Amino acid sequence: MMKKFLTPAKTRRGMAAQRLALKAAYYTGALHAYGAAKRGKIPGLAILMYHSIGGSEILGPGIAVSEKNFAGQLEYLARSFDIVPLDSAVATLRSGAPIPNNTIAITFDDGFRDNYETAFPLLKRYGAPAAMFVATQPLTDGISLWQYRLRFLLKKTQARELRLNWPDAAFGRAVFNLTNKRKRRRAVDALEPPLIAAAPSERERMLAEIAHNLGLEADSDPADEAPTLTVEQIKQMSAAGVEIGSHTVTHPALSSVSRTDAAEELTASKKTLESILNRRVRFLAYPFGGPQHFNHEIEELARAAGYDAALSTIRGVNGSGSDLFAVKRLGVFDDPPAIFAFKLSRWFA
Ligand SMILES: [Zn+2]
Repeated sequence: MMKKFLTPAKTRRGMAAQRLALKAAYYTGALHAYGAAKRGKIPGLAILMYHSIGGSEILGPGIAVSEKNFAGQLEYLARSFDIVPLDSAVATLRSGAPIPNNTIAITFDDGFRDNYETAFPLLKRYGAPAAMFVATQPLTDGISLWQYRLRFLLKKTQARELRLNWPDAAFGRAVFNLTNKRKRRRAVDALEPPLIAAAPSERERMLAEIAHNLGLEADSDPADEAPTLTVEQIKQMSAAGVEIGSHTVTHPALSSVSRTDAAEELTASKKTLESILNRRVRFLAYPFGGPQHFNHEIEELARAAGYDAALSTIRGVNGSGSDLFAVKRLGVFDDPPAIFAFKLSRWFA
């Protein structure tokens, strides 16, 4: 019966049947038994990465997990895993000791207010420790992170097209059709890479140009649709045991900015959070976090800034001997618990 899960479902009907089989196995506990058996073979520490819980549709797939699915996922994790605080997870990795089976840690990036309003009560209900990585500019200035401002501009505009002439960008001189949701999403996907690669001041100029060409104010902000955490909220969560980590000041790709700016992003964000929380900020999550967004030099800067470890978005589980400044994570999608459990079990196979 277990074999069935691993057979690729090629047809739509096959997919539906597979989902049904997964659901059945999940509710009878068979899936957990399967996952546990596999886990015994290659122990690894999985660190889950969430962003928004129950957030607005402007965030797009892969960023927002619904409250219902998050609650279901957490219930499954609490039942099947030992959910450990990030500091003990990192201590285990550093010690080189074997990773105990069934160990998992939970993290959130980007500092959405729903992390406090929706996720925090659920974390408390299940006694689940978590770490949250917050960029300090949204925290202190109340401005949303730029990548969500971009999405908001493309959603809010009445314009039917966007004209840009950016010779350096992969799309060069382009007219983006904005007449439906899918096309708007495609425009976001094309606009994000050149913005990621730009220095912060240049990026703001590009965002202002996009806003202007869309007939919107340069400072259009999704604060109402996707509000960010407040100082008071992170203080409260920190006092309750949530590990608050740095996600830099302005959320740049650290490998694209100058060495001086990268060092400033790492040290200033740490200092700001430490003065707010009155405790040492030990962990960093690299913005975007892919292998192209940080490098050995950035790792060294993070070490010099006084962090104990830095988390990437490189997909995988961690073993003893893992690089503490390129810790791997598993991004979580808006999946019902049965699908979530299945995807997770594959990482331990
Ligand atoms: Zn981020």
